[in-house]
Amino acid sequence: MYYDYHTHSDFSDDSTTPLTDMLDSAIDKGIVEIAVTDHYDPGYPDREFPFELDFDKYHKTLEEMQLKYEGRLRIAKGIEIGIQHDQIGNCHNAATSYDYDYIIGSFHCADGEPLYNGHFYDNKTPLQAYIDYFTYTYENICKFKDFSNLGHMNLVTRYCPVNEVPEFSKYSDICEAILKLLIEEGKGIELNTSSFRYGLDETTPSKDLLKLYRSLGGEIITIGSDAHTPDCLADHFDFARDYLKVLGFRYISVFRNRKPEFIPL
Ligand SMILES: [Zn+2]
Ligand SMILES: [Zn+2]
Repeated sequence: MYYDYHTHSDFSDDSTTPLTDMLDSAIDKGIVEIAVTDHYDPGYPDREFPFELDFDKYHKTLEEMQLKYEGRLRIAKGIEIGIQHDQIGNCHNAATSYDYDYIIGSFHCADGEPLYNGHFYDNKTPLQAYIDYFTYTYENICKFKDFSNLGHMNLVTRYCPVNEVPEFSKYSDICEAILKLLIEEGKGIELNTSSFRYGLDETTPSKDLLKLYRSLGGEIITIGSDAHTPDCLADHFDFARDYLKVLGFRYISVFRNRKPEFIPL
């Protein structure tokens, strides 16, 4: 039985998969509960991918799907909000104008720069890029509070030149500040398994971050594939569950009306 808490459909600008294809495939793959978390990334700097969302249609469709799949697949009404410092008002409006079950807060950009094109690293050492990314995350979660879990916490790793990954101890202080704040506010993190399809040999967050979160008392954690196509649903989920157990986690979380519920591992 799998609980996939990070998935996309063609409501997201970077997916062409109809939502029903994702949901049918989820059932075939043994997923009993799925959070549909399509992108809303206001102010995203790449005009080809504005990551806007047709909210009315999205909400209506999620409710229709909940009825259509009742008894076969539980569907959590979710959204992945891309947070930027100059978009806090838009993020707040998106999060509070509908009764989501679950909201992922993600940082796909930092200091106005999207991470995916690698320019965030220009004129910076990898360590400086890491520190800047986590500092940006910290500063913005001090301002934006309307989310459940922090998405793919160390996304910055995905774009780091191979063999230049900095030592964890050199940037762990700012990560600790982020994790402490999340725990204090009853929020959590996600274990995102999409890193494997990007060729990394680690989950996102990394083992060091997961261990730190657990050692600080962090318990709220979801597992998500970040699938944009059906073949990626529940990818590496057996591995992820075993990994969390080894690291001392006892539960994964699902969400109802923005409140976590715990499923024993
Ligand atoms: Zn994301
Ligand atoms: Zn995503």
